[in-house]
Amino acid sequence: MTDCLFCAIAAGDIPADVIHRDDDVLAFRDISPQAPVHVLVIPRAHHANAADLAAADPALAGRLLAVAGAIADQEGVAESGYRLVTNTGSGAGQSVDHVHFHLLGGRGLSWPPG
Ligand code: AMP
Repeated sequence: MTDCLFCAIAAGDIPADVIHRDDDVLAFRDISPQAPVHVLVIPRAHHANAADLAAADPALAGRLLAVAGAIADQEGVAESGYRLVTNTGSGAGQSVDHVHFHLLGGRGLSWPPG
């Protein structure tokens, strides 16, 4: 088994609450939700962070954003508002080195974040 947690989830080796799966993209609920809607959107292919993904496969980076928008609709937060966040590097809080977008919504979200 891969030692990348999100590669293992994408492969189905580790269970997750998956709400979207296609050939390229997976979305599943965060195990430690920070908002009523907290979904992680990832490429199935391993890329460490958003910049690496965009450099290697810009079309796939665009697909992730399109899927995130569709999920926001599906989860009922497109109208009320939602946030897409991708942390890069440990200093920014990235704990899993497989690019993921946090889709957060369903409550008021302050700006700037803490
Ligand atoms: P980050 O800290 O930005 O790298 O985000 C990693 C996210 O993955 C955190 O919000 C964790 O709660 C979440 N997470 C870790 N393990 C799992 C898992 N097995 N299933 C779902 N989400 C997870």
